[in-house]
Amino acid sequence: MAAKIDAATGIIAARTGAKETLIAELAGCFAGTEASATLAANRGDEVAYFVHEMRPDASEPYGLVSGTSTLKPGKVGREFFMTRGHIHSRPDRPEIYFCLRGRGVMHLETLTGETSPLAMESGSLTYVPPFMIHRSINVGDEPLITLFCYPADAGQDYEIIVRAGGMRTLIVDDGAGGWIEVANPRYQPRSIDEQQRYLRG
Ligand code: ZN
Repeated sequence: MAAKIDAATGIIAARTGAKETLIAELAGCFAGTEASATLAANRGDEVAYFVHEMRPDASEPYGLVSGTSTLKPGKVGREFFMTRGHIHSRPDRPEIYFCLRGRGVMHLETLTGETSPLAMESGSLTYVPPFMIHRSINVGDEPLITLFCYPADAGQDYEIIVRAGGMRTLIVDDGAGGWIEVANPRYQPRSIDEQQRYLRG
């Protein structure tokens, strides 16, 4: 299986699968509820990001999924457009991201709520270790395009972020062309029971 990636658009013509996420589906990710409701009402049916993937045959026991994620630039109040974010359904599965275009942050959070936002620009290679919640954020003014690769049996669990009211910190515009990390006022820490459930896989 081989394919050409258009690094300017993120398009993989020979993809085996694709998924689009609309701005309306992201509205709940933003802490600024009034601004995000306005955005969803005005631009809700626009694509916020899309994924093109190359998935191996399901019979491969140790297959790798690779592909691209292309996230539009934009802001809701001081918050930047972001992906919904997830932990892997098999939480011990890691992932890598290689940034092809744009400026972004790979925002990482452990089960206990320790965050580490990692800056990404064209050429950056980012490793997402096992048991890590992860989300991409576009802090630039052009599409953020990353190439990802993860074990095909990893799966995505989006609810871990929803239950916690988001990630523990928000990445927001610093007013000077950059970004800063601030506390998320809606965040509810995970119980020890919930952490244990993920650690057991
Ligand atoms: Zn992932």
